[in-house]
Amino acid sequence: MSRKKQRHSYDFNDAEFFGFAKSYLSEAFPNPQRIGCPANSDLQRMAEHPVEARDAEVSEHLTCCSPCFNRYLEILASLRHRTA
Ligand SMILES: [Zn+2]
Repeated sequence: MSRKKQRHSYDFNDAEFFGFAKSYLSEAFPNPQRIGCPANSDLQRMAEHPVEARDAEVSEHLTCCSPCFNRYLEILASLRHRTA
């Protein structure tokens, strides 16, 4: 008796997952009043030299604040340009 389970194959690779997280996070949390946002310099510092212990609060903030998340991606992108 063969029972085939209907199953989608989720093989998320990292890029796909990141793409999903990116499009989701960049819109999911508008935070127009920028409540609890870290300073731009904190985002910059974390992008340049991430230190897990120090940046835990900021990186957690990025998962619930779209403006900061987008800003962080911008900083990362510009760093990549600079070093490439
Ligand atoms: Zn924020």
